[in-house]
Amino acid sequence: MIEALDIHVTGIVQGVGFRPFVYRMAKKYLINGWVLNAADGVNIHAEGESRLLDEFVIELSENAPAAAQVKEIELKEVPLQDFDSFEIRFSDDAAVQETTLVSADLATCDDCAAELFNPNDRRFRYPFINCTNCGPRFTIIDALPYDRASTSMKDFPMCERCAAEYADPLDRRFHAQPDACFECGPHLSLAWRPDCEATPGEDFPTRGAGDVSSDELPDGWRIAWGKTRETSDALIARAVELLCAGQVVAVKGLGGFHLVCDARNAEAIARLREGKRRGGKPFAVMMANAEAARSVCEVTPEEEKALSDPARPIVLLKKRRGVAFAAGLADKLPELGVMLPATPVQLLLLHDFARALEQMGVPEPPMLVMTSGNIHDEPIV
Ligand SMILES: [Zn+2]
Ligand SMILES: [Zn+2]
Repeated sequence: MIEALDIHVTGIVQGVGFRPFVYRMAKKYLINGWVLNAADGVNIHAEGESRLLDEFVIELSENAPAAAQVKEIELKEVPLQDFDSFEIRFSDDAAVQETTLVSADLATCDDCAAELFNPNDRRFRYPFINCTNCGPRFTIIDALPYDRASTSMKDFPMCERCAAEYADPLDRRFHAQPDACFECGPHLSLAWRPDCEATPGEDFPTRGAGDVSSDELPDGWRIAWGKTRETSDALIARAVELLCAGQVVAVKGLGGFHLVCDARNAEAIARLREGKRRGGKPFAVMMANAEAARSVCEVTPEEEKALSDPARPIVLLKKRRGVAFAAGLADKLPELGVMLPATPVQLLLLHDFARALEQMGVPEPPMLVMTSGNIHDEPIV
């Protein structure tokens, strides 16, 4: 029997790929009607075979996108309106959108991480890869409603291929506001002080303060841009060389800079401590994955789950007995603060740092100190 339901879903269901998910499920269960953002969630009108409608509703609660949090699903039987397709509707009611909860920034998802390291993907090693399930949200928003024009992505008009993904309800990047690629999106840059030999090479066009339009560089600083995969990779390679040489590199993450150094190099840690004016407080480290963390710390299943949370918290792990840690990292403490990478730039850094260690014959998984780029007790830069 064909029936119709009005479904109201509450929770974090906007800006997390929930409407395209509803669309895919509607196609799967041969359901017609529509889905629309509402003031406090998402409204769905669904018409279909009653048995399939039941399964559709179960999917909504049980298989929602990773970043979504379904709080409640209200169902109401309504008269049939005989829709002959299912569509995603867009609200033009500003009041509806302005009360929308904005999602927090989300760590790079597994699908994007796989594309990042797939040589056949067009975003292979693109340092700002993201999708509806991951990437920056809160950090890039200037104003509501949340669409590209009111984010810091407004200066990066999408190329044809990104625009096609953005418009396709069956694509993982449907309405992903920060959707970008090497062709149309932001690029890496490396800037260095006059007294630091960080130049990535002779062939690099570098510029100094005064002729850089969007970045204010202090006197004497130089900057190099990685606008292609090759030049972008060269900048990461240079950063890895600096880390291997015991230098401190400031790496822009979501919402601010991290000061980064090799966590196995006591001299580098001392240099970082001096720069940060941070006495004896322990530093947290970033490692590639839970398995890498397990090589130096004990990791319970609950701790492993916490490490992989999309919010990427620092998790205090018990140091493994017999493992020697560099002096100055977290001396005299039984625990070490560990976090996993949250952004594609961090994934690339750890990946390439691991390769550099391999080439130097160091079999240990990379471990980087990642500390917020601020002077002790001052706000994050
Ligand atoms: Zn993703
Ligand atoms: Zn693009």
